[in-house]
Amino acid sequence: MAILKKGLVQVYTGDGKGKTTAAFGLAWRMLGRGGKVYVCQFLKPADIETGEAIFAQQFSGQLTLERLDQPWDMQKGIEDQPQVTAMRKALAVKLSEITQLTRSGDYDLMVLDELVLCLHWHLVDQDQLWTLIETRADHVELVLTGRGADQPLIEKADLVTVVDWKKHPFQQGISARKGIEY
Ligand code: ATP
Ligand code: MG
Repeated sequence: MAILKKGLVQVYTGDGKGKTTAAFGLAWRMLGRGGKVYVCQFLKPADIETGEAIFAQQFSGQLTLERLDQPWDMQKGIEDQPQVTAMRKALAVKLSEITQLTRSGDYDLMVLDELVLCLHWHLVDQDQLWTLIETRADHVELVLTGRGADQPLIEKADLVTVVDWKKHPFQQGISARKGIEY
């Protein structure tokens, strides 16, 4: 039984910390209501163990967490043409799989983590994302996260939250912490 009658499209963007954790907070809430949650993380190294992945294993059946296992070197970024070409191809395939899932209505909440940045960098085709959004089952709430939301996506979404940046421990030389960043 679907939790929502009408799912909306949410975007969490901006330069501050909290976009992915906000999406996971929402996932927690939906799980508490007995809903099914799907998360796909893009641009994340496949070999990093994260708290969220360990948690998802414990919740399997109600929560699915996947990563696109296409390597992405943030240092090289979009300047590296072979990396961009390979990522575009992998993203097109993965988005087409996810489109089938959104259409099937199997999940109540679907989080596409970092897809906003992928769109901003033209690693995903805008039309392909529009198809995913428009053909999803009515009750599916979609959350897209990542820096750099562009105007067309902002117009397409029902909710847009910009996480502002004021301070980050990174500035004090404190690197990513277990249980907090991963
Ligand atoms: P989180 O996953 O903690 O909610 P986020 O999704 O908002 O963060 P991303 O843009 O996905 O942030 O950044 C990935 C990593 O970089 C996160 O571990 C985050 O803590 C860190 N980060 C976020 N904002 C900043 C910043 N302004 N300066 C340095 N590091 C940051
Ligand atoms: Mg994030």
